[in-house]
Amino acid sequence: MTKKQDYQKLEKKLIGEKKSCWELWDEKIKKEAFDFAEKYKIFLDKAKTERESVLEGVKMAKEKGFKDIGAVKSLKAGDKVFAINKNKALMMAVIGKKSMKEGFRMLMSHIDSPHLDLKISPLYEEESLAFFKTHYYGGIKKYQWPTITLALHGVVCLDDGKEINFVIGEKDTDPIFMITDLLPHLDRGVLTPKREVLGEDLNLLLGSIPVNDKKIKEKVKLAVLEYLFNNYGIKQGDFASAEIQAVPSNKARDLGFDRSMVSAYGHDDRICSFVAIEAFLNTKVSNQTQICAWVDREEIGSDGQTGAISLFFEKFISNLLELGGEKSNMSEIINIFDKSKAISTDVTVAVDPDYKEVHDLRNAHRMGYGIAMEKYTGSGGKYSTSEASAEYVAELRGIMKRNKNIVCQFSAGLGKVDQGGGGTIAKFMANRGIDIVDMGIPLFNMHAPLEIASKADLYSAYLFYKEFYLG
Ligand code: MN
Ligand code: MN
Repeated sequence: MTKKQDYQKLEKKLIGEKKSCWELWDEKIKKEAFDFAEKYKIFLDKAKTERESVLEGVKMAKEKGFKDIGAVKSLKAGDKVFAINKNKALMMAVIGKKSMKEGFRMLMSHIDSPHLDLKISPLYEEESLAFFKTHYYGGIKKYQWPTITLALHGVVCLDDGKEINFVIGEKDTDPIFMITDLLPHLDRGVLTPKREVLGEDLNLLLGSIPVNDKKIKEKVKLAVLEYLFNNYGIKQGDFASAEIQAVPSNKARDLGFDRSMVSAYGHDDRICSFVAIEAFLNTKVSNQTQICAWVDREEIGSDGQTGAISLFFEKFISNLLELGGEKSNMSEIINIFDKSKAISTDVTVAVDPDYKEVHDLRNAHRMGYGIAMEKYTGSGGKYSTSEASAEYVAELRGIMKRNKNIVCQFSAGLGKVDQGGGGTIAKFMANRGIDIVDMGIPLFNMHAPLEIASKADLYSAYLFYKEFYLG
């Protein structure tokens, strides 16, 4: 007869323990996780747009000796290069000891986050108030954006070739901007339906002091333009050649008495972008070339010059080949893709106790339980997604075993099968033949002005990404 004690052993062997990082880690690792989060918060506060993220990424890479690929004549093992795509995406590589033909290892993440873009003709006056009209970018819940403090980040390109970069609303002494909302007294949800916030309601309040001239029709609007011209040289028509975003002005902050989590704007996906670049810059040169790629436009489908679909990726691989003294043509590149391994480092959803009904709780990620793998994303019936092969997932599980502090949770498909879904850049790399799977950090409030992540998951991802690069 088998004793009860043996079943406990058997359970441990066959099922294992489901414990959070906080339960599994010793004090030393916990301290490392907290210290790592401090660096992350500093990065987040500096990188609130794609363009700002690229600037920060290049700065971090240059500090580690990376050179612009346009400035190098040839490449050999251990060389470090980067390439900027239209100021909004970034590719970095450390050349491996073996030929590029052996394939590369890549972490790819996106540096765009949901926000509000100013429209082409944004400025108007109504009821003696000036506003900017916006067009939301990415999947937002519109009601979350009124009544929060917003900052403007952007670039205005003048027709004389001058480029003006500005940020207003981040310093404590700066003014901020806000989208107004209706008071509850006039928005009763009991007898009449609540007034829904629509895209055209997302208008930023800018000012209320008119210019002093009775003959001018829109006096407050002119006063705003006068301010913009005096301070930045911007005229009304210049908004047509501008990219200005409204983003939450909040700084990244510790959340909770135990400070175990971070609340911030733009965790999706700058959290994985940051962890990926940190792992990339701190790993050792290995046999295969290592790539860290930051792309744009993921939140709106990855189309365009700077998204994951763009051929800039092929151009970068081709440049690496040629500078390494190898032939570069489409069939070579396709063969390389076939031998390459990648991780789409993107965020996922953590089970929120208030909304458990949207999850299959047996296949869901928890906050603090480590880096989360999504074998596939997409929606009902596995539409619009790639799926990592069993062989590739097994390989990654093998890599995890090397460091006992790597804690990982496995799931797929974002919530209940018929509930909803989502996509990432993974499928665009899988379409090219690259082995890829999504592995990132579970969040609360994804796509809200402020999102929440666990410092444990952040650090667990870092430990794993570093091991991944070594192959
Ligand atoms: Mn994302
Ligand atoms: Mn997203």
